[in-house]
Amino acid sequence: MATAADGRFLAGGHALLPSLKQRLDHPSDLIDPGAIAELRGVTKAGGILTIGAMTPHADVANSAVVRASIPALADLAAGIGDPQVRNRATLGGSVAGNPTADYPAALLGLGATIHTDRRQIRADDFFVGTSKTALGRGEIVTAVAFPVPEKAAYAKFSGLASRYAIAGVFVGKSSKGVRVAVTGAGACVFRDLDMENALAADFAPRAIDGLRIPVSGLRSDRHASAEYRAHLIGVMARRAVAACR
Ligand SMILES: Cc1cc2nc3c(=O)[nH]c(=O)nc-3n(C[C@H](O)[C@H](O)[C@H](O)COP(=O)(O)OP(=O)(O)OC[C@H]3O[C@@H](n4cnc5c(N)ncnc54)[C@H](O)[C@@H]3O)c2cc1C
Repeated sequence: MATAADGRFLAGGHALLPSLKQRLDHPSDLIDPGAIAELRGVTKAGGILTIGAMTPHADVANSAVVRASIPALADLAAGIGDPQVRNRATLGGSVAGNPTADYPAALLGLGATIHTDRRQIRADDFFVGTSKTALGRGEIVTAVAFPVPEKAAYAKFSGLASRYAIAGVFVGKSSKGVRVAVTGAGACVFRDLDMENALAADFAPRAIDGLRIPVSGLRSDRHASAEYRAHLIGVMARRAVAACR
């Protein structure tokens, strides 16, 4: 990658290859890290679950270790796309390539740390805007480290065709407090601090009844208006809190 003029990492290829076919991207080189065994798999040590960047969604969904320590993460992975997508697309491709996908909500909702070949980045500092992350040129995500929470759950209202979130909410509760991350609804995954404060005082769906979700900054497109997305965020958040385990 260091010698490539404008290289890209090729992971599952489910986002990159369509963009190449449509001539939306013109990289000088494609680098396939698929043969690096260290980039794939799940380990757990000291209350931290670490998942390699090249781990496909299906492996996370079916991992006994993930299911036992953070069932919400296994459920989230099982709800991405379809079997073809889940067997090819990877955690790293999702995190590096799309700040409105499902995994970014889990990273933010669990306070995860992104490991790269150069440094460690807190999820709070990683997703910085529309299709933008804190990754530098040629920097590769190697793994994501998730602190195991007391309880967590993800609820999403998905598009019928792709199953991308029109609005998805990940709720995580740990000794450090409550985190609520919203994805699919804005240009980039974000935390809802009002909901976090309300849930810290009373961890029950009723705590966020009547909380107003600001419409500004939410997406309006053919799938849903910003107003509808604001409504969905409240509904998904209450469902996630009720489903927390
Ligand atoms: C039909 C369909 C349905 C889908 N449904 C959903 C859904 O319901 N929910 C959801 O969240 N997502 C969904 N996705 C997206 C999917 O889960 C992945 O996010 C997407 O395919 C990218 O992952 P990938 O491994 O295929 O990455 P690639 O396409 O190979 O790469 C994507 C981008 O990330 C970069 N990249 C890849 N790996 C790394 C790395 N380790 N470090 C740095 N950069 C890297 C690449 O260079 C490229 O720019 C769907 C995709 C498809 C095609």
